Amino acid sequence: MSTFNDIDIECPQCGQEFRGTVWVAVHAGQDPELKDLLLGGELNLVSCPECSYVTYQDRFMIYQEPRAELLAYIYPESQRDQQDELQKLMQAGFKEAQAVMPEKERIVYEPILLFGLEALIELLREEAALAEQSQIAQVLCEQNKVKTELLRPAHARRLGTMRIIPRTGNGPIPTRTDVLAGIEKLLEIDPVLDFYAKLQTTIQANPGWTL
Ligand SMILES: [Zn+2]
Repeated sequence: MSTFNDIDIECPQCGQEFRGTVWVAVHAGQDPELKDLLLGGELNLVSCPECSYVTYQDRFMIYQEPRAELLAYIYPESQRDQQDELQKLMQAGFKEAQAVMPEKERIVYEPILLFGLEALIELLREEAALAEQSQIAQVLCEQNKVKTELLRPAHARRLGTMRIIPRTGNGPIPTRTDVLAGIEKLLEIDPVLDFYAKLQTTIQANPGWTL
């Protein structure tokens, strides 16, 4: 569920004190229009009723997008120096919240910690770009009979990669060699898939890489 708070704000331009509304929890699945506002850089912008001066309210916010297996705790930029503490706090709070939830509703992926909404916007844009290339790869692999593995969103995020991974072999989990051979086939079909070319370079440079 998305929620907002009314907070006291002092206008940095004219000094007027007023009540402003800021979002403290955004559920992108239920309220996609809030995601649009966020991506447009308009979320938590507050305008002074006296002089119309607009400020961005950098507050703690929780962002949830279940379809993308994304749960992000976003702290203000000014708290970046407390990263280690906040990471622990987040893990503890998440565990506690999960413990009292019915088993079926528990979240199976880990929350991530970010500072400032700009970092979240960047992550969402990056994942949209990866998803776009993933979709192209899926179509090309299907057309050319290249096998693929579909990663869960949180798994792909952890690896910093696309969800569709071309592969060879028949094992339940493709090996590094299977994936490298799969990517090679895909890049022969379409050499301009730059994220896959990057993934190939990453895997080649890392002999211990596993899916
Ligand atoms: Zn003002």
